[in-house]
Amino acid sequence: MSSTKHSVVIVGYGGMGSYHTQLIKDCGRLEVTGVYDLLGERSAAAVEAGYTAYASYAGVLADPAVETVLIATPNDVHKDIAIAAFRAGKHVICEKPVAMSADEFREMTAEAEKAGRVLMVHQNRRWDEDFRIVKAMYDKETIGSLFRIESRVHGANGIPGDWRHIKAQGGGMLLDWGVHLLDQLLFMIDSPVVSVSANLSFILGNEVDDGFEAVLQFGNGVQAVVEVGTTNFITLPRWYVKGLEGTAVIEDWSLTGRIVTRNNDSVKREPTPIRAGVGLTKTMAPPSEGATITEALPPAAELPASFYDNYVDVLEGKAEPIVNNEQVLRVQNLIEAIFTAAESQQTLKNFDIYTPEYNFI
Ligand code: NAD
Repeated sequence: MSSTKHSVVIVGYGGMGSYHTQLIKDCGRLEVTGVYDLLGERSAAAVEAGYTAYASYAGVLADPAVETVLIATPNDVHKDIAIAAFRAGKHVICEKPVAMSADEFREMTAEAEKAGRVLMVHQNRRWDEDFRIVKAMYDKETIGSLFRIESRVHGANGIPGDWRHIKAQGGGMLLDWGVHLLDQLLFMIDSPVVSVSANLSFILGNEVDDGFEAVLQFGNGVQAVVEVGTTNFITLPRWYVKGLEGTAVIEDWSLTGRIVTRNNDSVKREPTPIRAGVGLTKTMAPPSEGATITEALPPAAELPASFYDNYVDVLEGKAEPIVNNEQVLRVQNLIEAIFTAAESQQTLKNFDIYTPEYNFI
């Protein structure tokens, strides 16, 4: 191991834990020096992949060579694993959702501060290109000022895996995909959420939500719809975005999409009425020829560094975290508001913990 690389031990070598080993190799400034998993078969898989498997978590904590513990276990045990790591003097990268509640997360940050260690949450989907294209449109007003943003992920496989079905382990889609989509929106829109209403779906008969829909009203006038579905055999677009001058659609993660804007140079002509169903309409007729311009999606917004590069810079005192803990707490708080809004079937107000310093990028 090169002495310049920072040592990481992955706790929880399941789907995401093993994927992290690849991401860490790509970064090149960190090195996975071991793995710990409760299950013997997962430890064996780690050994087969060339990693040292610790026999116990206590063994990880007692090893002075370990600088960072990366937590990729089910959600209910993130807090205890993180707190034990801080008490042993380790830094922590934690998978999302960081905890089961905002209060749990507060306990984690208090321990990190007490120990003077870094806690960074893996909100990796801020780097997704589809999201960064929308962020560029938002920042640059490519289709005019955005006033409605619909962010959806649709699947038809139900809830995957085992613990994702169990409430006590932090299962359900709001805590799974919801945390990503909400984090993206709060990261992009620098304004408080003034109200939220929501519905959870239990159509598959699990004790946790198999999907949800939330409508967020921001103080600056933007309205966002966030929807996660696992019973969608036909999917709606990943993003559908309306601005004062046009509309954009991004269908999928392959970035199929387009923007259509008003052509301000064209002579204004009324659209020709069309037959629609058994009726006639001018309102819903396509715009007259030349009235709109269709273009490719704009380039994605750049972020300062990859998650891991930024983490290493933070460890080395060279940068502030891009995913900071105030932001994570705000998302966790919003998730709780969505649960409450859905359960009570009320529109919730005055819950957001936004501050003007919230987004610094
Ligand atoms: P998984 O079930 O595939 O893997 C979890 C692993 O943790 C299993 O191997 C299990 O044996 C192990 N484990 C459970 N309790 C443990 C403990 N106390 N100590 C050590 N190991 C323990 O789950 P997954 O899909 O890899 O999800 C793990 C975490 O990663 C979750 O928090 C999930 O939300 C997150 N995740 C994040 C992304 C992302 O893109 N950021 C994607 C998938 C999952």
